[in-house]
Amino acid sequence: MLDKETLVAYDKRYLWHPFTQMQDWMTEDVVVIERGEGCYLVDISGNRYIDGMASMWTNVHGHNHPEINAALKTQLDKVAHTTLLGYSNIPAIQLAQKLVEITPVGLNKVFYSDNGSTAVEIALKMAYQYWQHTGESQRELFIHFDNAYHGDTIGAMSVGGINSFHNTFDSLLFRGVRVSAPETYRPDRDRDASRNGSGAALKTRWLNAVEAALSANAGRIAGIILEPLIQGAGGMLMAPRGFLKELSALAKRWEVLLIVDEVMTGFGRTGKMWACEHENVTPDILCTAKGLAAGYLPLAATLTTDNIYNAFLGDYKDLKTFFHGHTFTGNPLACAVALENIAIFERENLLSELQLKIEHFKNRLQDFYALPHVGDVRMCGLAAGVELMKDRETDTPYPFEEKVGIRVCKAALSRGAMLRPLVNTIVLMPPLGISIVELDSLLDIVYSSIEVITKNRED
Ligand SMILES: *Cc1c(COP(=O)(O)O)cnc(C)c1O
Repeated sequence: MLDKETLVAYDKRYLWHPFTQMQDWMTEDVVVIERGEGCYLVDISGNRYIDGMASMWTNVHGHNHPEINAALKTQLDKVAHTTLLGYSNIPAIQLAQKLVEITPVGLNKVFYSDNGSTAVEIALKMAYQYWQHTGESQRELFIHFDNAYHGDTIGAMSVGGINSFHNTFDSLLFRGVRVSAPETYRPDRDRDASRNGSGAALKTRWLNAVEAALSANAGRIAGIILEPLIQGAGGMLMAPRGFLKELSALAKRWEVLLIVDEVMTGFGRTGKMWACEHENVTPDILCTAKGLAAGYLPLAATLTTDNIYNAFLGDYKDLKTFFHGHTFTGNPLACAVALENIAIFERENLLSELQLKIEHFKNRLQDFYALPHVGDVRMCGLAAGVELMKDRETDTPYPFEEKVGIRVCKAALSRGAMLRPLVNTIVLMPPLGISIVELDSLLDIVYSSIEVITKNRED
């Protein structure tokens, strides 16, 4: 292996990191991870860090998990990859059956890909082509939301709503109908509504906005796409309770397709297997990726109903085929890992075990309001966003260029926790397998990191 100095030097010389200003990166200490142990990651200098962001929101049961490793090795000794184009493989079949069993009733068909963005691209293309086959080809618009994040490919960006990520590419993106987001707190918006109640007023406002969009584009909407319950990358923004349920009813009433992007929320993150289950919603299309293969391997799936699937059936010459597929679709290694991931949920009764952790997490997070620069603490399941404010009484955010989120995460790193902020929001998203003791250390580290950084920056 290369020595530490060479590794860091080569990183800076050869790698271009995602979502990273490489000019800053050049002057920074690079943490190079060598191995994982449960909820900890260990770097090449032997420093241990709690993985407070589940390796970009993917890891479920911890790293280097003996049973997942074993499942992967067992499959590896059979075959690493074979194609689903024209052929099939055992883990892909077994996983499809299992996914249908554990997703909301009515989602009966599984289309694989490799990541969240492609799962979304597939959902959009499926929905679009569905209307072509059902005689309504004028339905070519998607309703999507401010602050939405559905991935970085052109199609996924087209239904996104984060200006800093998406504006550069604006002229490349296809047109849709963008609606204000269902968020219960933003300093520049209706703060009291979320603090004092369930956000009912906000919910009504946003539903009205969606209905107005449906009505203004009657007959031209193919579907509505959203992240259920939590808009993740947009800042860990929580939807008002009941929003998803009523949005689903609205989609039904207007006969448009509901696409839920459970790429982040799926696999227990919200305390139930799927965010949709909190509001008893069966979408027409569901996307899953991040936690699907337990954070081990790139794997995604887009699930849909018999109704949509059947619309693609026809004579070969009719060209109703869904002409979409990725080379590594249904990769046997990833599918075998996903099967073990689900088996662990069942064997360890993980979702009911999780409720205690969530309760603890929730209680401890309330303490963060004791810090004067914590403007808002938003949480759902084992996911939270702690939003820092320069002045929370006057709703004044820290200026972007102060990089307060980045500074807090750096302080946390030196105290032994690995995190990644969303501008001024500190995101907490540990593996679901984290113990209460580990969760406490993570929260202690984050608390003291916020304390020290915001204190130093007080005017
Ligand atoms: C991460 C994410 C995506 C994109 O997934 P990639 O695997 O990074 O392409 C899409 N939607 C949501 C909700 C996400 O959190």
